[in-house]
Amino acid sequence: MSLTEIDLHQQLKKYFGFSQFKGLQEEVITSVVKGNNTFVVMPTGGGKSLCYQLPALIADGTAIVVSPLIALMKNQVDAIRGISSEHGVAHVLNSSLNKTEVRQVKEDISNGITKLLYVAPESLTKEDYVDFLKTQKISFLAIDEAHCISEWGHDFRPEYRNLRNIIGRIGDNIPIVALTATATPKVQEDILKNLGITDATTFKASFNRPNLYYEVRPKTKNVDADIIRFVKQNEGKSGIIYCLSRKKVEELAQTLQVNGISAVPYHAGLEAKTRSRHQDMFLMEDIDVVVATIAFGMGIDKPDVRFVIHHDIPKSIESYYQETGRAGRDGGEGHCLAFYSYKDIEKLEKFMSGKPVAEQEIGHALLQEIVAYAETSVSRRKFILHYFGEDFDQETGEGASMDDNVRHPKKKTEAREEVEL
Ligand code: ADP
Ligand code: MG
Repeated sequence: MSLTEIDLHQQLKKYFGFSQFKGLQEEVITSVVKGNNTFVVMPTGGGKSLCYQLPALIADGTAIVVSPLIALMKNQVDAIRGISSEHGVAHVLNSSLNKTEVRQVKEDISNGITKLLYVAPESLTKEDYVDFLKTQKISFLAIDEAHCISEWGHDFRPEYRNLRNIIGRIGDNIPIVALTATATPKVQEDILKNLGITDATTFKASFNRPNLYYEVRPKTKNVDADIIRFVKQNEGKSGIIYCLSRKKVEELAQTLQVNGISAVPYHAGLEAKTRSRHQDMFLMEDIDVVVATIAFGMGIDKPDVRFVIHHDIPKSIESYYQETGRAGRDGGEGHCLAFYSYKDIEKLEKFMSGKPVAEQEIGHALLQEIVAYAETSVSRRKFILHYFGEDFDQETGEGASMDDNVRHPKKKTEAREEVEL
């Protein structure tokens, strides 16, 4: 396949109905189509999927897509099948398939029908699959959520560590495309090293979210009352409130309800039926507020979330960025309010105490960063972007005035006193 023969815009329109590429998509896709090892760092919602889906659809052979979550894979496969008349164009290969289904998948791959094969990393370790795939024409291998490779990421999966080895067994010269929304330089380095693609062409989009307003307030024993006041001032708007524990989620949801706020709880301890009902109520705007643990949010795409409140400070800047990032997806207002007390940091440290030492050290280092963020008196946006290895101009950068420290500057000592409860 030669690039000069392909009109990427036309292919974009044909398969996805979009008339424009988003951000760096066109450059990324060009690199993938050329068969380069390619590394893509783009914030959530940046349009990473298309960066491998479009090349897969126009390439000869099958692209293998490694993704950590079965639910996300299913969504993507359904979406791809919706845009192509060929039913077998995309498949999921995982442990839920029976023998007949596996045979069908293999047949479609062998016949060149299947352009995208989604697999969980643990399925890829199956001897039988590896033996089969190495006899097939593989266009490239995409690793979505590639930060799962790194212990410095927020979602480390040991199975991801094995990928390099398996890829080598499937074929020597398969181009690799790694994609992540994790911007920390450490994680990126880990990804490239682990996959053995330090030569990869790298594309990194800005992580600045200029429409988000960042605010950190000291957490006192009146935090629930503070939250109620904030939510009432923002009546009718959609918001998410994150709490560390399931118990606190339940309590706070109830407190909000008692105070006339339409809120529901969401955490992994609730029955699946209840969880999806509460999620739907939020998406359909039957209720304004979801009080949730971090179990809520992955893959949720509600464009007009107007505020994200952290009742408890998250365990890393990355988690904080991901969670606050669910506000203002539509480009409109998004208020990110975090309550911070050093006591909560001690609590988080204690949670880690049973873990292996290496993990504790990483956890501790990540916590120190979030402490520094919470206590800083400089531009929060600059702080976050610096953490992600990005320069931000405090004078002229987009969204420069959108945080409490910039709007209401205070002396460092003052800030420190306030947070030491
Ligand atoms: P990411 O994986 O980076 O979080 P997704 O691949 O899920 O992002 O894409 C986010 C949204 O952007 C999806 O709804 C997708 O359909 C949309 N999108 C992607 N590319 C384009 C484009 N070129 N034009 C318009 N919408 C796009
Ligand atoms: Mg994605």
